[in-house]
Amino acid sequence: MDFRIPAEFETELGRYKEFISNRLIPNLGGWYAEKEVPRDFFLELGANGWLGLEAEGARIREHNPLKAALFVEHLGTISPGVGVAVLVQVSLGAQGIILFGNQDQKDRYLPPAARGETLVCLGNTEPGAGSDVASVASTAKKVDGGWMLNGIKSFVTNGYISDFALITAVSDPEADRNSRISMFLVDLASKGITRSKLHKEVWIPSDLTRIKLDDVFVPEANLIGKRGRGLQQVLEIFTNSRITISALTLGTALGAFRAGVEHGKKRQAFGGKIIDFQAKSFEVADFYSKIEAARLVLWKTCWEKEQGIDFRLGASIAKYLSVEAARAIGQWAADLFGAASVIFEHPVHKYPMDAWASSLGEGTQDIQKLIIFRELMKRGAA
Ligand SMILES: Cc1cc2nc3c(=O)[nH]c(=O)nc-3n(C[C@H](O)[C@H](O)[C@H](O)COP(=O)(O)OP(=O)(O)OC[C@H]3O[C@@H](n4cnc5c(N)ncnc54)[C@H](O)[C@@H]3O)c2cc1C
Repeated sequence: MDFRIPAEFETELGRYKEFISNRLIPNLGGWYAEKEVPRDFFLELGANGWLGLEAEGARIREHNPLKAALFVEHLGTISPGVGVAVLVQVSLGAQGIILFGNQDQKDRYLPPAARGETLVCLGNTEPGAGSDVASVASTAKKVDGGWMLNGIKSFVTNGYISDFALITAVSDPEADRNSRISMFLVDLASKGITRSKLHKEVWIPSDLTRIKLDDVFVPEANLIGKRGRGLQQVLEIFTNSRITISALTLGTALGAFRAGVEHGKKRQAFGGKIIDFQAKSFEVADFYSKIEAARLVLWKTCWEKEQGIDFRLGASIAKYLSVEAARAIGQWAADLFGAASVIFEHPVHKYPMDAWASSLGEGTQDIQKLIIFRELMKRGAA
């Protein structure tokens, strides 16, 4: 086994880090105040090939999984809120087209998505359907030339800034639970769409939006994948995006860890540096070990995906471990900063909040445990 990061990834990551230092860090305060990631940022990432999609001849494909994870992790260390906005574009939005779109859909929608010219999100969760994805109640009624969609998608990241959303809806109400739902690519400028931006205190400055669909016409050409396979398709999208959300969460843990250690090395109490109290130094050792464990599972899962090996188990373990690490380390770092950490604008304030958000996206910790257990049983492991 070779755990070295390939040289070409290192070189590009170096350029990316420089770009993030120059373009993101100085503007982050303003974006937090506006609570919006500007479209220009997506265009700039796209122009550099850094949105997570790249051309292979005439076709567009995803970045290598390890490369994608390294880029998202770096963004997570600085701003998990910006990181999630970038992640959604490829890992939730474009992912559905990559995995299930026909060639026409790929040719039409992926190149502008790769350039950051069009933004794509995913609306699955509803007031009555979160962890239990199959309970989706939005409807898609067959009409002349397409489908008429009705329903509410309650929590959609990038729903406010996106041009298109992958939407799940019941197309075949008489069919069994596994064959009722289909997936559609909905133009968010369509008549009948109402979008409301929700007030939240996690993953700032990304938006979280409620999308209401009232008699929204979707042409037949925008059915994504197979009619009645929407449940399996959305679950497969989540399996894939667990890799990048684990990387984002690992970045959240690492950002909090660095902030805490740096502060502990400077802050004096009882005649010494806080970091030198043994209670704190043991926490540093403990938390770094947690980061390293989550990272190793994540990298192994990236390798599995690259090799075409089933990565469901690894993706859920990576998500589970990275969230455990980020939650504990986010809270620890905030504690180390004392009272300053409760101030909204303080850089450390976001880490425990964003770790909490990570625990919800792509399945809660309970859902990860359910998947890990099921995968273990399938594989005959006791
Ligand atoms: C910041 C943010 C961004 C989001 N972005 C998106 C997005 O872009 N698109 C989208 O579609 N959704 C999005 N979501 C929604 C997210 O996917 C759901 O919140 C998540 O799947 C959980 O669903 P729920 O909130 O309905 O909770 P519920 O499913 O109601 O769960 C409530 C509690 O019950 C537990 N639970 C549920 N079932 C079981 C079980 N079988 N065994 C044990 N415990 C169980 C859960 O673990 C949880 O603790 C986002 C959410 C947040 C907070």
